[in-house]
Amino acid sequence: MKQGLFDLSGRVAIVTGGNGGIGLGMARGLAANGAAIAIVGRNDAKSAEAVADLAKDGHQAIAISADVTDEAAVIAMIERARRELGRVDILVNNAGINIRKPPEALDIAEWNSVIATNLTSAFLCSRAAHPLMKAVGGGKIINIGSMMSIFGASFAPAYAASKGGIVQFTRSCAVAWAPDNIQVNAILPGWIDTDLTKRAREQIAGLHDKVLARTPAARWGTSADFAGIAAFLASSASDFVTGTAIPVDGGFSVMG
Ligand code: NDP
Repeated sequence: MKQGLFDLSGRVAIVTGGNGGIGLGMARGLAANGAAIAIVGRNDAKSAEAVADLAKDGHQAIAISADVTDEAAVIAMIERARRELGRVDILVNNAGINIRKPPEALDIAEWNSVIATNLTSAFLCSRAAHPLMKAVGGGKIINIGSMMSIFGASFAPAYAASKGGIVQFTRSCAVAWAPDNIQVNAILPGWIDTDLTKRAREQIAGLHDKVLARTPAARWGTSADFAGIAAFLASSASDFVTGTAIPVDGGFSVMG
C-alpha cells in the first residue's frame, strides 16, 4: 500500500543479493512502495526468477549480474543501474556468505572471502553509489548486519568480524555523508529462514530448537519480515534516522 511518508515512486533501488532470501524480501517491500529495483547477484537464473516475480506484480525490475567483491564489476553494476533505470537513490548492501568453522580451522582464503563478500563489498558499492546519490540531492543506504554484529559465535569468527565491521562502517558513512543528505543505517536480522540458514541448520546440531527457545516471538523470521523496515529506511519517513543498527529479530537480542 502506497502512502505519502513511505512513497518511493520515481526512486531507484539497488539490492545486492536481491535474488532470494532477505534481499528479495526487502526488494518486494521497496517495489510495493513504488521503487524500481535492480537485483544484483551472480546466479543469473535466480536473478531472472526474482525479476519475473516482481514484474508479475506490476513492478519495474532489472537483473544485473555482478560479483560484489570485484571493484570493476561493482562500478559497472552501479553505472548500469543508473543507465537503465535513470538514477540511483537507494542502495541495499545485503549480499553475504558464511563459512562455519572455529577460528583455528579457518584458512586465510576463507577469512578473506567472508570479509570481502560481507564487508568490503559494502564499501565498494557505497563508494560507487555516493556520487549518484549526491547528484539527485540525497539517498539512502541500508547495510545488513546480523546478531553477530552484537554477539560472538565459535563457528563464525570471520562472519562476526565482518558484521561487527558493517555497523562501524555504517556509522562512519552516516557521519561523512549527512551533509549530502544521505542516510545510512544497518539492519541486524535475527534468525531468518533462508538458504543461508538452511545450511546452518544442517551444520549445527539443535540450532532450530535453540533459536525457537531464545526468540520471544517464538518463531524463525521470514524474508517478508524485512519488507517494512526496508521501506521505512528507504523513504522520507526515516529522514532524521541515520547511523543506527536496528535489530529485526523477534526479540532475540533482548532476551535475558
Ligand atoms: P541467501 O544465501 O539467501 O542470500 C545471499 C545473497 O547474497 C544471494 O542472493 C547471493 O546471490 C548473494 N551473494 C553472495 N555472494 C555474492 C557475491 N560475491 N556477489 C554478489 N552477490 C552475492 O542468504 P540470506 O538472505 O539469509 O542473507 C542475506 C543477508 O542477510 C546476508 O548478508 C546475511 O549475512 C544476512 N543475515 C542473514 C541471516 C539469516 O538468518 N538468514 C541472519 C543475519 C544476517 P548469488 O548467489 O546469485 O550471488
